[in-house]
Amino acid sequence: MLQDQEVHAAEMERTFIAIKPDGVQRGLISEIVSRFERKGFKLVAIKLVVPSKEFAQKHYHDLKERPFFSGLCDFLSSGPVLAMVWEGEGVIKYGRKLIGATDPAKSEPGTIRGDLAVVVGRNIIHGSDGPETAKDEIALWFTPKELVSYTSNEEKWVYGVN
Ligand code: GDP
Ligand code: MG
Repeated sequence: MLQDQEVHAAEMERTFIAIKPDGVQRGLISEIVSRFERKGFKLVAIKLVVPSKEFAQKHYHDLKERPFFSGLCDFLSSGPVLAMVWEGEGVIKYGRKLIGATDPAKSEPGTIRGDLAVVVGRNIIHGSDGPETAKDEIALWFTPKELVSYTSNEEKWVYGVN
C-alpha cells in the first residue's frame, strides 16, 4: 500500500502561469503571486522577460487561426511578462479556477480576472489549460535548470504529510 508521502509525491503537478504586460504594468504582481502562495501552492520558477513576437506566436500557436492572434502576440511581446511555474496537488485545474474565465466579464468575483480585469484583450494573466499544455509551456519558457526543486516548510501543514 502507498504511504501518504508517496501518494502526495505522485499527485504533485506543475503548471505555467504568466502575468501578462498589462498585469505587470498595473502593479498587480504581488497581488497575483500572493493568491497562489496563500492557497498553498509552491513557486518553483520565476523570471521577468520580454518575449519576442516569434516566441509569443509559439506560446499561442493553438490560436493562430483566430482573428485576434496577431494583436495578442504583439501585446504579449510588448513588455515585461512575469513567467512562473507553480507546483501543487491539482495546481493545473485549480490554477485556472483561481484565474477565472477567459473573459473577465464572465469571471466570478473572487477570481483574479473577476476581481482585477475588465476586458478579454487585457485579462492580465495566463495559465496552462491541461497537463499536456503545462508540460509544453514549462519547457518553452524555462530550462530544466531554472526549475527549483525544494521542500517547503509549509508542505507538512498544507498536505498533512511528513
Ligand atoms: P485563456 O486560456 O483563458 O487565456 O484563453 P484562450 O487560450 O482561449 O485565449 C488566450 C488569450 O487570448 C486570452 O487570455 C485573451 O487574452 C485572448 N483572447 C481570447 N479570446 C479573445 C477574444 O475574443 N478577443 C480578444 N481580443 N482576445 C481574446
Ligand atoms: Mg489558453
